[in-house]
Amino acid sequence: MNVNDSEKMAGILISEGYKPADDENSADIVIVNTCSVREKAKEKLFSFLGKLNGIKEKRELKIIVTGCVSQLLKDKIRKRAPYVDIMLGTNSYFKIKDALKKTKFSDFQFYKNWIEIPFEPILRKNDFSAYVSIMEGCDSFCTYCVVPFSRGREKFRPSSSILKEIRFLEEQEFKEVQLLGQNVDSYRDPETGMDLASLLEKIAKSSSIQWIRFLTSHPAKFSIRIAEIMAKYPKILHSIHIPFQAGSNKILELMNRGYSIEKYLDLVNKIKEIVPDIALSTDVIVGFPGETDKDFQYTVDVLKEIEFENMFSFKYSPRPGTKAYLLEDNVPDEVKTERLIYIQNLQKEIQLKNNLKRVGKVMKVLTENINKKNPNETVGRIYTGRIVNVKGGKVGEFYDILIEEAGPHNLKGSIKED
Ligand code: SAH
Ligand code: SF4
Repeated sequence: MNVNDSEKMAGILISEGYKPADDENSADIVIVNTCSVREKAKEKLFSFLGKLNGIKEKRELKIIVTGCVSQLLKDKIRKRAPYVDIMLGTNSYFKIKDALKKTKFSDFQFYKNWIEIPFEPILRKNDFSAYVSIMEGCDSFCTYCVVPFSRGREKFRPSSSILKEIRFLEEQEFKEVQLLGQNVDSYRDPETGMDLASLLEKIAKSSSIQWIRFLTSHPAKFSIRIAEIMAKYPKILHSIHIPFQAGSNKILELMNRGYSIEKYLDLVNKIKEIVPDIALSTDVIVGFPGETDKDFQYTVDVLKEIEFENMFSFKYSPRPGTKAYLLEDNVPDEVKTERLIYIQNLQKEIQLKNNLKRVGKVMKVLTENINKKNPNETVGRIYTGRIVNVKGGKVGEFYDILIEEAGPHNLKGSIKED
């Protein structure tokens, strides 16, 4: 979401005649777009701001902070970094153009409804794969999470404007779109009431975009119709990011996740029945307050049972303003680290096993970059998001790749000649 917001701000500025700089040392304006899901981001921000202030003491420099940390910690930033010129919150990044005309400016307004900004100028990371935001914010209030506070309540984008953006991307010959939102599966078209399953079907039917992805899905909101639509339209990639966070029902309840682990496993089994080659990925938090060894073992059991394609794992980080912040953060940091390393090693083994099964198979790959370590190779992804190093090839193309080698994090292969 943050990357996409940055692309939107960059697009607005470029259409106003601003030019991108290589880095902060050569820039006249620096915009720091921030995330605050975990504590670390805040400290990183202040150390970067200190560096920018060092530059500002020697020459003219406009410093702007946007995003979640700006939204949540405006007073702290004002106090610790009074040299910051402009601050914008998560709902007001699109005001960047007017903000830049002022010497000091801040705006943290929340909006109840979707604010449509022109999509044509968005500065995309490349010309073949694009993010398309379909909703923002969250109403779920998981007890550990700041997102409902930093991004505000759920706001859904009208499907008519989503489809218009996709049509525009199609005309530009984009090959892949990624529908974005905090919980995309709670999507409801504010105009027609259409849900995510119907939106996906509409896009799959009406557009020539070849790969359609969506993330993130919330297990309590996921309708099995989404899986049925995925099975019907292969261009909706068989990949779902659907975090379970913890395997213990006691912890899930303390987290206010809105499902039991049995319900989660049942949902996953149903999805697998409908879409047998589904690649599931998850987020996991270890060391939530009150998490015992036994609770943690339940998380391990789920990881072993489902064998996720990918896992993003985090140590619980107490966030001021959330409900869990009031609970004692009573799992020692060493134990959190131990648990994190344990599941990361386990996941590595699972990924290696899964990836080895792909050796000898031919898989469709969309190449994204030249390999920085080897200019004779391109780097792309299969439908699951798994990285593939390809011998030769051009960037931004689909290839049928014969998989020749596998590691836990990536595959290697060569272009299959017809
Ligand atoms: N809406 C998505 C997740 C968005 S936040 C969902 O509910 O699945 C991305 C991930 O950051 C979460 O899935 C969670 O694993 C992690 N996260 C959020 N708050 C956290 C915290 N306080 N400490 C550690 N990890 C956190
Ligand atoms: Fe945060 Fe929960 Fe909302 Fe995800 S569903 S963004 S974890 S509050």
